[in-house]
Parts: sequence; C-alpha cells; structure tokens
Amino acid sequence: MKKDLRSFTQEELKKLLVSGKVQKYRSEQIFQSVHAKHAEKIESITAIPKELQKEISEKFCINGLNCVTVSESPKDKTQKFLFETTDEDKKKVKIESVLIVDEERKTICISTQAGCNVGCEFCATGKMGLNRNLSAGEIVSQVYEIIKTTEIIPTNIVYMGMGEPFLNYENVLTSLKIFTDKKGLGISSKRITVSTVGFENKIKKFADDIKSDPMLSNVKLALSLHSTDNGFRELLIPTAKANNLKIIYEELVYFYRTTGNKITYEYIFFEGLNDTANDENRLIKLSRMVPSNINIIPFHYVDFSVIEPLSSLNEKIYDKIIDSKDNSLSNSNNLYNFVENLKSEKVTVNLRTSSGLDINAACGQLAVKN
Ligand code: SF4
Repeated sequence: MKKDLRSFTQEELKKLLVSGKVQKYRSEQIFQSVHAKHAEKIESITAIPKELQKEISEKFCINGLNCVTVSESPKDKTQKFLFETTDEDKKKVKIESVLIVDEERKTICISTQAGCNVGCEFCATGKMGLNRNLSAGEIVSQVYEIIKTTEIIPTNIVYMGMGEPFLNYENVLTSLKIFTDKKGLGISSKRITVSTVGFENKIKKFADDIKSDPMLSNVKLALSLHSTDNGFRELLIPTAKANNLKIIYEELVYFYRTTGNKITYEYIFFEGLNDTANDENRLIKLSRMVPSNINIIPFHYVDFSVIEPLSSLNEKIYDKIIDSKDNSLSNSNNLYNFVENLKSEKVTVNLRTSSGLDINAACGQLAVKN
C-alpha cells in the first residue's frame, strides 16, 4: 500500500525518507513541493532527480481530491466545494468545504470526517452518520484544491466543516503541523480555529499539544456551546450527556491558563428555547470565566430532502427546524435584542452572518449522499 506524501509532517517525512537513504535536504524539497507548490504527482516534484522520483514512487503517492462540483452563492459569493476522495482501502467518500470571502478576510472552512456520528439535532452532517475519518492529507488537500481552483490564498482556516475534529484527533493535529510549517503553506497558527462540541480530556490534551509546539501555540479553540443548560444541551448534542458543562468549563479554564488563547463560544439561536433571561445571565457569567467572545449564529434550515432526520427526538427542536425553512428566525427582533442585551453587559458578542445560506453552505448545512 502506497503512503500519501501529503499526510506527513516535515519531521515524519524526514524520518520515513531518510531511513530509506534519501538525504535530508531532499526530503525538505519534497515536503516543500507537496505543501507549498501543491505538486499533484511525484513526477511534478522537479526539485529532485528523476531517479529519486522513481524510487519514491515505489512506496509513496500523492493522493489529491477530485473536485466534483463548485457552487457559488449569487448573494454573497460564498463557494461550496464538493470533493470525492478515495482512501488506501479504495473507499470513496464525498466531503464538502466552503470558501467565504469577506473583503480582506478569506476563510476556508474544512471537513475532518466524511459525515459525523455525534448526531447534533440541528446539523445536516450529524444526520449522515459517520462514513470514515479523513487522513491528514485529505484534510490539507481541501485547502490546496481550493487554492488551485480559485487562486485565492486563505487568510484563515476554520475546522468547522463536516465532522468533529476531536474525534479524528491525531490526523487533525498532523494537519495543523503541516499547515503552519514555513516550508508548506506557512499560515500563522493565530489564523486557525478548531471547533469542537467538547470531550473530557480532549480539550486539555489539545491545550498541552499546542502549547508544546511553538508553531501551533496560537491556534484558537471554539466550543459549540448552543446552550448553558445541561438538559437542553444534551437534547441538542447527544454526546453532551457524558461531557457535561462542568467538565467542559474546567477544561476551558485549563486551555486558557495553558495557552493564553481566548475561547470562542458558538451559540445557535433557537428562539424561545435558549434565549431566556436565565440564558442571558448564564452567558454573561460564562463570558467572565476566561477571556472569550460569543458568536451568535442564526439557525439555518437543514435540507432534509438530502438527509432524513434521525427522529423527532425533541419535538420542540424539530418544529423549530421545520418552522425556520424561510429562515425568518434570523430576522427576528428577539435575536437582535438578545445580542444587544449581551453587549450592554460588555460581553464580546458577534452576530454571525449566514454566508452561503442559499447554497446550503452555512453553518450546520453541509451534507452529502455517498
Ligand atoms: S455540529 Fe459538528 S459535531 Fe455536531 S453533528 Fe454536526 S459536524 Fe458533528
């Protein structure tokens, strides 16, 4: 089985190649060709002699993604990319990535898994179930393919596409090391955000891992919070039961103390469900726990003609999902009042725009049929 050159950090590649008698500087040239110049075939690595290309081709390959479609929002020019990828066992899966351009800010939202088995009630990906984890090469290739197609170099990368990054932890960590390597894309770690629903010991481990690597130390963490009430949060996010908010908050404090990096809380606004005075008060208190900002996200209609809902587990949530088909919730006065009330308490709060909503590319809308 040939190994994908895109799946290794520079250090790993050195170890693998040098043990096969390739000189160190050659392994650096290979890494640079693969990750900075985005070589798609070993024969395209012209920095190394043809014999070496041939030798390396016996054990390695470059496993790019096949871009199936690109959809562009007529409204805000957000682009959604549907990729097909085949793993070492020849298992084909489809994944989606999104490019959002907002003046100088060019953000690529990438997937870490094909599908997801967390099963959040509001998320189309969660209704797909998990197909498989993506390799580190498949994670970084999403960015390389988008650069190739659009000639846009991202200023920011967010791990907020399909899948739960901490359930594919090692490959996500490897991809972070590749992205930030100066011989590769060389993006600063402060321009990268990893989003999670939160798992016991994983946030702490992430804090330790990024702290111990100077190239990663500024990676930002976003928690998909959505409710400060354990009971309601469990209805939204099935894994929250085993990872209650007390545990998660302790881990966030540890993350901040270890890294010094602010936390972002992602909070989907479900009118009448998580917008009471108590919700506001708990959010205000939480915002003072460690330096943080809160992103309030309008709920986005999930296209269940693509993915069947698992169940109407919680009828209230399910009704909201159906009611919001015209996305009237995002225009609701209550949403704006909620944001203003938090601001008046000096909470750093942003009302997130719904980029790509009209092409099902907004938060929670990514889903494909495999
Ligand atoms: S929100 Fe994230 S963790 Fe939850 S189902 Fe969707 S992809 Fe998975």
